[in-house]
Amino acid sequence: MARPTDIRENVPLAPFTTYRIGGPARYYARPATREALADLLVWAHREDIPGFILGAGSNLLVSDRGYPGLVIHLQGFLGEMGEPSAEGIWEVGAGTGLFPWVRRTARRGWAGVEALIGIPGTLGGALRMNAGAFNQEISQVLERVELIRTGGRYATPEPQIIQIQAAEAGFAYRKAPGLEGTVILSARFRLQPGDPEKLMRQVREVVALRRNRQPLQWPSCGSVFKRPPNDFAGRLIEAAGFKGFQLGGAQVSPRHAGFILNTGGATAADVLNLIKRIIQTVRDNSGVTLEREVILVGFDDDELAGT
Ligand SMILES: Cc1cc2nc3c(=O)[nH]c(=O)nc-3n(C[C@H](O)[C@H](O)[C@H](O)COP(=O)(O)OP(=O)(O)OC[C@H]3O[C@@H](n4cnc5c(N)ncnc54)[C@H](O)[C@@H]3O)c2cc1C
Repeated sequence: MARPTDIRENVPLAPFTTYRIGGPARYYARPATREALADLLVWAHREDIPGFILGAGSNLLVSDRGYPGLVIHLQGFLGEMGEPSAEGIWEVGAGTGLFPWVRRTARRGWAGVEALIGIPGTLGGALRMNAGAFNQEISQVLERVELIRTGGRYATPEPQIIQIQAAEAGFAYRKAPGLEGTVILSARFRLQPGDPEKLMRQVREVVALRRNRQPLQWPSCGSVFKRPPNDFAGRLIEAAGFKGFQLGGAQVSPRHAGFILNTGGATAADVLNLIKRIIQTVRDNSGVTLEREVILVGFDDDELAGT
């Protein structure tokens, strides 16, 4: 099989992440069809190149060296948002933006995801992360997912599209083990009828709350750490004295200590070193080991130690 023609080399990844940080992808492709996507997975398998699926890059820290394999960028592709059936069934493409879809569900009077408004990213990324806010999680309204299983390397000689039920994804707080190593193509949701005016009011309230609480003027990946049981990462980080702490171009937000910001020119090394220092100090201080929510891409094992 010839190399797919739409593969580019040494493409900087920083512009494709909300952190605006990260070196180049050795190979990069933005497939426009399912066939093109399948060709990429087969090519990666044949060439023995590891792959990575990129959505909107809103939960990633990409290494300064970049990624040594094939980045398959799905934002925009598989972007079908569709209309609901009379029973509130929505079939949504994985590259659809979460924000426009959530807004549409509220406008059309379907309830179940309105609290997710303002979470950046694609539907595929939201499912893989089991994104959530204000007591709603994307998995709560999911019926089934259409995907290709690839194993951890995102390469396979025979890409087969299959459907799995929501329960098979093993959803838990900010994780979906059953979706790891898969390429999510689309998902089927079931929403409940609601009053469009009330839902849109809730949407506006959540957007205002997020603007108020979150330091959205600087590039970031949102909350770097997961919420520990019965506590808040931001509270523990603040108690450890990190609020406003700066390391290179990376800063613990003075407003919301759960966010590490790129205040200009931050490298991935700055952010990673700050993450390690926070984990260590919070552990020494409170006995709690913070768990990362952000996904680290392109780092080697030595660099990952302590994260
Ligand atoms: C300002 C800000 C606020 C945020 N607030 C929240 C919040 O309130 N709640 C919350 O849960 N998150 C929040 N996040 C984190 C982030 O937006 C979510 O995790 C989001 O769901 C990630 O989607 P993405 O498309 O950007 O995925 P990416 O960051 O591109 O990727 C994340 C993971 O998903 C995988 N992935 C992406 N698409 C696919 C696909 N089609 N198939 C298979 N795997 C795929 C990637 O390989 C990667 O492992 C916030 C981020 C920011 C920057």
